[in-house]
Amino acid sequence: MWLKLLIIGGILYALYRVAGGSVLPGKKENRSKEAEEAEEGETLVECSKCSTYVVKKEAIFYRGKYYCSRECLPK
Ligand SMILES: [Zn+2]
Repeated sequence: MWLKLLIIGGILYALYRVAGGSVLPGKKENRSKEAEEAEEGETLVECSKCSTYVVKKEAIFYRGKYYCSRECLPK
């Protein structure tokens, strides 16, 4: 009987170690990384030709200015 309890205790301790020791800080790191990426990706920039706001990651950066699409790029 006590052996069973010891095994259950061991499992609970292992779960506690996993939850408290590695999962939580890992989650924190992932969250901040995702937040950084989201922040960078959701920044809106104005197309310097047609003044349309586009998401920075989808905008085209050309000669120091942002453009919404290839049609707006200076030729
Ligand atoms: Zn444009």
